Amino acid sequence: MIYSETFDVIVCGAGHAGVEAALAAARMGASTLLLTGNIDTIAQMSCNPAIGGQAKGQMVREIDALGGEMAINTDVTGIQFRLLNESRGAAVQSPRAQCDKKAYQFRLKHTLELQPNLQIFQATVTGLVFEHGRVVGCRTNLDVEFRGRAVVVTTGTFLRGLMHIGQNKNEGGRLGDFSAKTLSASFLEAGIELQRLKTGTPPRILGRSIDFSKMQEQKGDAEPTFFAFHDTRQDGELFHVEQTGERRSGWAPGCEQVSCWMTHTTERTATLVRENLHKSAMYSGEIEGVGPRYCPSIEDKFVRFADKPRHLLFLEPEGRATNEFYVNGLSTSLPFDVQLEMVHSVPGLEKAVLLRPAYAVEYDFAPPTQLLPSLESKKVENLFFAGQINGTSGYEEAAAQGLVAGVNAVNKVRGAAPMIITRQEAYIGVLIDDLVTKGTREPYRMFTSRAEHRLLFNHGSAELRLIHHAKAHGLLSSDRIARIEEKQSTIRRWIEKLESTRIAGGSLADHVRRGAAESVLPEELKNAHSAIKQEVVYRVAYKGYLEREERHIQKLGEIEKIKIPPDLDFITVKGLRKESALKLSEIKPHSLGQASRISGVNPADISILMVHIEASRAGERKERL
Ligand SMILES: Cc1cc2nc3c(=O)[nH]c(=O)nc-3n(C[C@H](O)[C@H](O)[C@H](O)COP(=O)(O)OP(=O)(O)OC[C@H]3O[C@@H](n4cnc5c(N)ncnc54)[C@H](O)[C@@H]3O)c2cc1C
Repeated sequence: MIYSETFDVIVCGAGHAGVEAALAAARMGASTLLLTGNIDTIAQMSCNPAIGGQAKGQMVREIDALGGEMAINTDVTGIQFRLLNESRGAAVQSPRAQCDKKAYQFRLKHTLELQPNLQIFQATVTGLVFEHGRVVGCRTNLDVEFRGRAVVVTTGTFLRGLMHIGQNKNEGGRLGDFSAKTLSASFLEAGIELQRLKTGTPPRILGRSIDFSKMQEQKGDAEPTFFAFHDTRQDGELFHVEQTGERRSGWAPGCEQVSCWMTHTTERTATLVRENLHKSAMYSGEIEGVGPRYCPSIEDKFVRFADKPRHLLFLEPEGRATNEFYVNGLSTSLPFDVQLEMVHSVPGLEKAVLLRPAYAVEYDFAPPTQLLPSLESKKVENLFFAGQINGTSGYEEAAAQGLVAGVNAVNKVRGAAPMIITRQEAYIGVLIDDLVTKGTREPYRMFTSRAEHRLLFNHGSAELRLIHHAKAHGLLSSDRIARIEEKQSTIRRWIEKLESTRIAGGSLADHVRRGAAESVLPEELKNAHSAIKQEVVYRVAYKGYLEREERHIQKLGEIEKIKIPPDLDFITVKGLRKESALKLSEIKPHSLGQASRISGVNPADISILMVHIEASRAGERKERL
């Protein structure tokens, strides 16, 4: 049966990418359908119950600046908040929160249910429907076909998902869930290349079986750093779900924080792992997919860092209304009997009861160099990809892509220009540019070191950096836009005031740059909202570095502006090395700037291309005369 209504946008899969894609599309006024295999696992945290951390925290704030939901949802369901790298410069400080897993997913499900223009339906997408090189809909396991003008695929770790515990194998995208077995065939039919990746998760432990007296307590920060920009919203806009009266959260963000607990592996743990390495699915060659270097399994740690006598482990509570704990740092695909012994070799876990085993999952992903910077497929028009399916790992990376893909699916349907966030503007820009320009051979995780302009990407400035995109694509309410613009000019005014107000020894700004205490600041600024004060002090203190960064970006901007004609045949460009011409033909960069970041394309190639593009433009101008 073909469902009667044709939607503007269909989103396949309600994980962290799918949720943001569906909300973004519906909030732009597009009729949106969110198809997912099980609506009770919407936005389930398959791995650690945490949001944020290094670079990821900054990205969540960027999602909030673009009207996404992850930041609010984390603030409301967070049970512990910490600001990482607090002792270092503001640019690399990253908020991180432990969340109540069930509260996180149920609040997002509720948010989706209340979203106008959005329909949620429980069905597994078994295939895509194509017409004339375009995607026009989805087939499902219910033999119901849904038609849409654009489709966003956000199926995570589920495509031909296969889980491993030693030699034991089970089909599924995660424990207790299904595997999307047939959808991959649709992609291959459309000429979309697929490869295999792998990721892993640690065991879950029953809290009352843990001896916390043998561990070190890690408390949250007394002053929580939140992810959402509370200062540029009305309450109604911030906690919109709770205010419908259908649900009361029962606690304000940041209060009644819970603790995490630190312990470590022992010599015994190392011996167990080394003696049983051959039984590990990862080390016995059972797993085809490539795993994340940055999220190593315990096997990887004892192999790659063999010199380290022990590795730290963190017991993270999975929520308020549960006694389940996540063992951060003990991800493995060793057989269950070895897992048990390994857990019992850890101080405080000698009598631990396992609620869920650790396992590894391998799955299909679609190498992202097959995408345009809008996240639309180069092979199939109106088909967008976001999340783990693009080769990334992490809720935050998935959510960022989902939001961009959702916005651009709507823009494509409306014939409007796509939202392209550049790597000079935000971590989200770095993420997408890295994916579509360089691709990835292992699960891609965001780091501050990936962002060459990270000094400009301090978490507090996300709104100020991205407001032009939010305005251009109608992602925020006019009230919020006005509040952000007010904040922008207030910050500018204070910077000018500090630079122009002279006291003994120079301007107030000079004193700030010399590291003077807050006491030198005018009373009014001291009492201003912390978001304004922190941004003013940051920009004044780092003025020289920030201005240099801006100048650098301006210079780079020149080649970013030089667009490459989409139909340019690189093979025919005289003087271009064959290897570069082949790489350029594969990636089809949209600008000279993007071309310059393709690995294997060197500056000489870029000069030749620049001359070629200029010459053909001059030729066109002459013809028009
Ligand atoms: C075992 C495991 C370990 C992990 N370890 C880490 C880690 O260590 N560090 C880290 O950063 N991240 C880790 N992750 C990854 C993290 O969970 C993902 O990065 C994140 O969830 C990706 O979000 P997503 O939206 O792309 O996909 P997912 O969260 O996987 O969501 C996909 C959604 O799509 C639905 N779906 C899938 N196929 C279909 C279909 N055909 N039809 C309808 N619905 C469908 C699913 O039900 C699900 O709701 C791990 C994930 C797993 C499973």
